Amino acid sequence: SLTLGIVGLPNVGKSTLFNALTSNDALAANYPFATIEPNVGVVPLPDERLDKLAEVFGSAKTVPATVSFVDIAGLVKGASEGQGLGNKFLANIREADAICQVIRVFDDPDVVHVDGRVDPSSDIETINTELILADLQTLEKALPRLEKEARTHKDKRPALEIAQQAKEILDSGKTLFAAGLGKDTPDLRELNLLTTKPFLYVFNADEGVLADEAKQKELRDLVAPGDAVFLDAKVEAELKELDEESQRELLESIGQAEPGLNALARAGFHTLGLQTYLTAGPKEARAWTIRQGWTAPQAAGVIHTDFERGFIKAEIVSFDDLIAAGSMAEAKSAGKVRMEGKDYSMADGDVVEFRFNV
Ligand code: GDP
Repeated sequence: SLTLGIVGLPNVGKSTLFNALTSNDALAANYPFATIEPNVGVVPLPDERLDKLAEVFGSAKTVPATVSFVDIAGLVKGASEGQGLGNKFLANIREADAICQVIRVFDDPDVVHVDGRVDPSSDIETINTELILADLQTLEKALPRLEKEARTHKDKRPALEIAQQAKEILDSGKTLFAAGLGKDTPDLRELNLLTTKPFLYVFNADEGVLADEAKQKELRDLVAPGDAVFLDAKVEAELKELDEESQRELLESIGQAEPGLNALARAGFHTLGLQTYLTAGPKEARAWTIRQGWTAPQAAGVIHTDFERGFIKAEIVSFDDLIAAGSMAEAKSAGKVRMEGKDYSMADGDVVEFRFNV
């Protein structure tokens, strides 16, 4: 499954956040056989639609989609100089599908900041610089080969040109993602450059910032086109230890409607370019994870590879139509249930039953 790699300077709250992301009881109940690596935190994607579906179908339980975060340990400054931990750090980031940087915006005289002051934009720059330098090294190694290939094969010219363009962007201090050369840029993919990955910024904030929308907008603008989330990692870690009633009280006391991990899960999903579709029956109401733009057979393959291979068609009703009708039978008689074929591209909130040959 796709993962976001958690990075950040020392003392910004990475471990605290990661602690809040792990040992999730609700998940253990739904995925009893899943082995979860110790450096992976899995967060359920909150989805109120599942409860409504469970009501309509009399489902015994609900199973949400999840988002995985990998804790990428390691020093950051000087990582691109390629020593010990630095190399491992970059290799781990290379494996992640998106980069999740934790940034300190909380004020606490007892917690030392590595650079002596809380300065989000300088923290972001420090991390970006290491990633940019690593990408430049990759490109400098690849360019001579690309030049040679382009001399002998005309059709290799676009690959050279895009690599040269990428180098210029990186030389100017920008990440490729920020410059619009994301992961899906043809001809750049094989180089697996770090800064083509989408970025999610987690601002580890205190109560003041959580209530300050103007400040949040300023920080959002700072990291655009990356996604941004604001939470208090310390509170998130505390919430994990509490029962539901006490959780509600703690959230209320700091003026938050829901745990910050909910927003983090939604943002992570968005950063990774994922979406869900829904299935429901007596056993469970469930959200399945697919990439945006996937077709019905690809979506079926997430449940079982046989479903993709033997795909005939998908019986689909939108969640809103289903709830408005009150039941599957009524949705059918109202003409709201569609039969979709192989080329159908899935929409968020599709409630689906696949027909397939085995
Ligand atoms: P890491 O080095 O990035 O993994 O940072 P840690 O998670 O170990 O946190 C460093 C210190 O900051 C610890 O003493 C945490 O308790 C504290 N800390 C983490 N998050 C917060 C926060 O949101 N507010 C405050 N006041 N302290 C925090």
